[in-house]
Amino acid sequence: MQTLATLDRCGNAPCLDFVNTVHSWLEPQPREYLESYSDLLRWAVDEGVLPRVRARRLRRLAESRPDQAQRVLARARELRAAMHGLFAAVAAGRSPGAGDVAALNAALDRTLPRRLLRVSASGARWDWVGADEDLESLLWPVIVSASELLIDGDLARIKACPSPDGCGWLFLDTSKNGSRRWCSMKMCGGTVKARRYYRRKKAED
Ligand SMILES: [Zn+2]
Repeated sequence: MQTLATLDRCGNAPCLDFVNTVHSWLEPQPREYLESYSDLLRWAVDEGVLPRVRARRLRRLAESRPDQAQRVLARARELRAAMHGLFAAVAAGRSPGAGDVAALNAALDRTLPRRLLRVSASGARWDWVGADEDLESLLWPVIVSASELLIDGDLARIKACPSPDGCGWLFLDTSKNGSRRWCSMKMCGGTVKARRYYRRKKAED
């Protein structure tokens, strides 16, 4: 059984890894990896979308505003469900539901005005305005990642780990020939291989 600390990051995009914090979407009672705001912080740091210094500030802020942190967690899960709906549709070659697209647009509407371009002699980078004072700021890079993947990504390479043997986790296939099938060998690929081996053994007996 995986924990949040060992959770596979096989999505190849922060938005898809975020969707994959439920395992799995195909099960009636899926495992929830984001049980608290603190889990959300930990996930974002491990994902590489939240600097540790900022995470420490947000943790202190969350401790002083527990109700607000709880609301952000609820909003994060809602957004995750919308992103799942959206990208699962793309993976299946369908048009996403209008509600899921609207949810992402609403999130972008809150997020994009907070973007700030920083430029120095060594180069330019995106930063955020007021991220240390906003408990929702840990979601901003994930929200931007979703829009960037949709606009710039190769949509044909967004795939779902196939049911019934696979788990429905979503990933961007970055393999050379685009032949990746499973979320990961640790989760599904290995299980399927083991099951096939078992079936073959049984047939031989
Ligand atoms: Zn899988």
